[in-house]
Amino acid sequence: MTDTTARESAARAGVTPMVLAEGVSKSFGSNEVLKSISLSVRPGEVLCIIGPSGSGKSTFLRCINHLERVDAGRLSVDGQVVGYRQHGDKLYELKPKEASRQRREIGMVFQRFNLFPHMTALENIIEAPIRVKGLPKARAVERANELLVRVGLADKGDHYPSQLSGGQQQRVAIARALAMDPKLMLFDEPTSALDPELVGEVLDVMKGLAASGMTMVVVTHEMGFAREVADELVFMDGGVVVESGDPREVLANPQHQRTQAFLSKVL
Ligand code: ADP
Ligand code: MG
Repeated sequence: MTDTTARESAARAGVTPMVLAEGVSKSFGSNEVLKSISLSVRPGEVLCIIGPSGSGKSTFLRCINHLERVDAGRLSVDGQVVGYRQHGDKLYELKPKEASRQRREIGMVFQRFNLFPHMTALENIIEAPIRVKGLPKARAVERANELLVRVGLADKGDHYPSQLSGGQQQRVAIARALAMDPKLMLFDEPTSALDPELVGEVLDVMKGLAASGMTMVVVTHEMGFAREVADELVFMDGGVVVESGDPREVLANPQHQRTQAFLSKVL
């Protein structure tokens, strides 16, 4: 849902959107990178975002995840305005501690695996639950082992990142994000840095996650994944949502010339 009435239609459907962007704009200096983005993602949905390099895809994810601040418009996650507390009609900026609590509920996986190199896979996964959530170590380890099974790495807990392939590292990164029990997972081109033969194993884990009901926003160039897994596909170009809809529909029958031009290059 990407029209200007995203809020109304979500409200009509009777669910609080997991992500609701209403006229979100963001500039770096004089460079307007996001120009009034409006969209919504319902709980349990997978939204895929495609678009050329520099179109603002990462910046949009970074806004959702408190890594950038929006200049105008409103961005909410599960009914809470990102970075703010609402009281009546007024918004109060969150203190850093409150903001980090809000952010904790969102998991993010980047193009580069970003694992701590001096920690084993298991240590990477238990670090935040212990330090941030205060989980007892034994419980954190138990949960990490469950997550390692889930991402197909049951026997790799004691391996250091340097001993793992890119695909395995990325699966540990997913397990690490899941260890915080996020209600929303953001993926920023999670397979773009991988050798082609390792892409499938990461996409399979993401498919499993989607099937389990996780709400996901995925920036990707994997059109097969988008077609198969996404509930909605958004094509961004130049900081605007050019086109959106059912992924099969958008991919097979793009309405806008810019979408057609982009797809003709990547498909
Ligand atoms: P995409 O992920 O679609 O490739 P990005 O969101 O990374 O696009 O970037 C969109 C635009 O914003 C680019 O022109 C990029 O140079 C600019 N940009 C991104 N981050 C910053 C930043 N921290 N400071 C200045 N410009 C930035
Ligand atoms: Mg990017």
